[in-house]
Amino acid sequence: MAPAPPPLLEGRKRRIAMMTSGGDSPGMNGAIRAVVRMAIEKGCEAYCVYEGYEGLVQGENFIRKFEWPDVRGWLSEGGTLIGTARCMAFYERPGRLKAAKNMVLNGIDALIICGGDGSLTGADKFRAEWPGLLHELVEKKELAAEQVEPFKHLNIVGLVGSIDNDMSGTDATIGCYSALSRICEMVDYIEATASSHSRAFVIEVMGRHCGWLALMAGVATGADFVFIPEKPRAENWRDEMCKIVARHRQIGKRKTIVIVAEGAHDQDGNKISPEMIKDLLADKTGLALDTRITTLGHVQRGGVACAYDRYLATLQGVEAVKAVLEATPETPTPFIAITENKICRKPLVQAVLDTKEVAKAIEAHDFDRAMSLRDTEFSDIYDSYMTTTTTDLNDAMRLPPQKHMRIAIIHVGAPAGGVNAATRAAVAYCLTRGHTPIAIHNGFAGFVRHHDDKPLGSVREFDWLEVDNWASKGGSEIGMNRELPKDSGMETVAALFKQYNFDGLFLIGGFEAFHALSQLRQAREKYSSLCIPMTLLPATISNNVPGTEYSLGSDTCLNELVRYCDTIKQSASASRRRVFVIETQGGRSGYIATLAGLAVGAVAVYTPEEGISIDMLAADIKHLKQVFKEDSGQSRAGRLILINEKASPVYHAKLIADMIRQEAQNRFETRDALPGHVQQGGTPSPMDRTRAVRLAIKCIEHLEKYEDRADSTILGDPQSSTVIGIKGASVVFTAMKDVEEHETDWPNRRPKNEFWLGLKDVVDVLSGRPEVPRPE
Ligand code: ATP
Repeated sequence: MAPAPPPLLEGRKRRIAMMTSGGDSPGMNGAIRAVVRMAIEKGCEAYCVYEGYEGLVQGENFIRKFEWPDVRGWLSEGGTLIGTARCMAFYERPGRLKAAKNMVLNGIDALIICGGDGSLTGADKFRAEWPGLLHELVEKKELAAEQVEPFKHLNIVGLVGSIDNDMSGTDATIGCYSALSRICEMVDYIEATASSHSRAFVIEVMGRHCGWLALMAGVATGADFVFIPEKPRAENWRDEMCKIVARHRQIGKRKTIVIVAEGAHDQDGNKISPEMIKDLLADKTGLALDTRITTLGHVQRGGVACAYDRYLATLQGVEAVKAVLEATPETPTPFIAITENKICRKPLVQAVLDTKEVAKAIEAHDFDRAMSLRDTEFSDIYDSYMTTTTTDLNDAMRLPPQKHMRIAIIHVGAPAGGVNAATRAAVAYCLTRGHTPIAIHNGFAGFVRHHDDKPLGSVREFDWLEVDNWASKGGSEIGMNRELPKDSGMETVAALFKQYNFDGLFLIGGFEAFHALSQLRQAREKYSSLCIPMTLLPATISNNVPGTEYSLGSDTCLNELVRYCDTIKQSASASRRRVFVIETQGGRSGYIATLAGLAVGAVAVYTPEEGISIDMLAADIKHLKQVFKEDSGQSRAGRLILINEKASPVYHAKLIADMIRQEAQNRFETRDALPGHVQQGGTPSPMDRTRAVRLAIKCIEHLEKYEDRADSTILGDPQSSTVIGIKGASVVFTAMKDVEEHETDWPNRRPKNEFWLGLKDVVDVLSGRPEVPRPE
């Protein structure tokens, strides 16, 4: 017998149901956790629908109530723990009718669906038909009119979970960066063997209508050629590919990597298969390359979510619940998107239409339209890729000789993932345009030492071959240190700028690089050789550079931290009752501690911005005691507290661990842990690599704008010394003067307004941390 319908909405809690649908993607569990806990936090009841639309159609045990502890530890699980399925019945109205009936019978008035464009199309259809479905249920006497009355407005919110990143209107879908990480990891492995044997590899990746994975993997790994569905190569693609590959071999490359999306085709719509590419490379390049095909297949879906997918899923899950609660009958059904760094709600109907348009445009061979329907980042990355792979073959991009510049590249600060990728891209772009890219080795200290006692080697022109394999390299290949120009001697620095006749300076680095640029800018009045355009690409794991919300290397760092925390948490699975206090780096910025806390579900995060007090510790210890008292031992792993290295001058990780241990009195164990330099990361993450390429090219383009400016114009133009940054939904160059004066907290070496501060509350809410006393 069907369950009795719930009483009317008034006087009872709202019921929000969560569902995953379509292909699984890493991060879906993080979204479920966030939705369930946020719903409960907001006084609602949380439900999960198992097996996607199939569960909604079948009802009964497929729709289950969830409590707070039910999603414990889900952040670090791959796939979806509530299952997903393709459901044929839901394509048809009778199936949707059953689904509507089950929704009403279970008292569910809001549905949050995490899935790809198909699932969200289904959701949109369901929403559009909803009044008709209810009417039909009443007419057929399956439900009484008063039963359906409280459910007149179906509240649906979409979360885009898909590894393909094929949904229009959002820069990233939940799971796409994890899939990209997997692909890049595989390509990195293949590269080593390809290089050893001087082989060519054709690697097929997922993407029927969307080339995001193929394109990003191509950029992140520095592949020789990429095929994507939205932008088929020119008619003579065979010759084009062979020419580029032959050229790369001619300048000394020992490996060839071609990445092809499964939906790749030529301009007439004929499929381009890996076999076709293989045959060409083996026969037509004139090099008879020993060529192998690797189809990556389902490994792309597998595994745990990367840090980005975890906090994206978490923040979007939280936003989805808010969207449900704020919706009125007039609100258009939203889905939760991200544009650059900003999470926002957008109309689902439009996104679904735009996404379908891409497929239609591809079918109609209107490729310009297909590209225009993708997001800015996509076309930016495509252009970046094109300008960095063809270098001397790209005549259309070459500037006339009078516009060529001598552009110096320097790394300042501590290594961070993506620094080399940015340098590689800048060098390749410079060469494509006809500029001379010049390496300054070992920061300002190296630059000046060269002047003193090392006449050769510290300053020299880059060549393409040396940087070609830097796309995936960690550290800094030209060396970096923290010394500032004033410490090295500004006069010497200025004299060297003159001696080498630099026309532009590209700095990559963290807060020291920012400080260095500030010093150079201020010394311009005195030294005319410094009156050249200068721009900084922030790169530091701490993500504390003013003028941007994202620094290269911070994503790599977060991934390392998340891996570390997962491992350490897992190590507690035997004893179960263990708290780890983990000290993170980050200087005086609590960014990485907070974001890692968000990605691993830490019970508390201590940051320098907030500080630590004895009352706060006492409250947290009390909370932990309560948690372990209530936990009968069924939860699988330990609890984590993250503390930034400078959160307090007194309370450090070991001391806090000791205090907890003392108070726990053997009811649970406590350990402190120090990941240290592991946080700089080995291989940079794909996000750091691809953003490095995109932003580095923008930086050189910015410098190019000053190619014929006189010293005096440069001096009077604030935009001639800038920091590039991602701010909210945009990528912007901000004048250093403004950033220095208005956005910088100099004593604490961090931005004045850190965009992420509010995220700490999300960590607390989702981990169930009670209100604790904050330090004065
Ligand atoms: P992926 O990214 O893996 O392709 P997806 O969500 O696009 O994910 P689909 O298989 O297209 O995956 O859709 C999942 C389910 O959503 C389908 O099995 C079906 O139940 C429902 N669905 C998809 N499209 C529609 C539609 N047009 N009308 C009704 N239901 C649909």
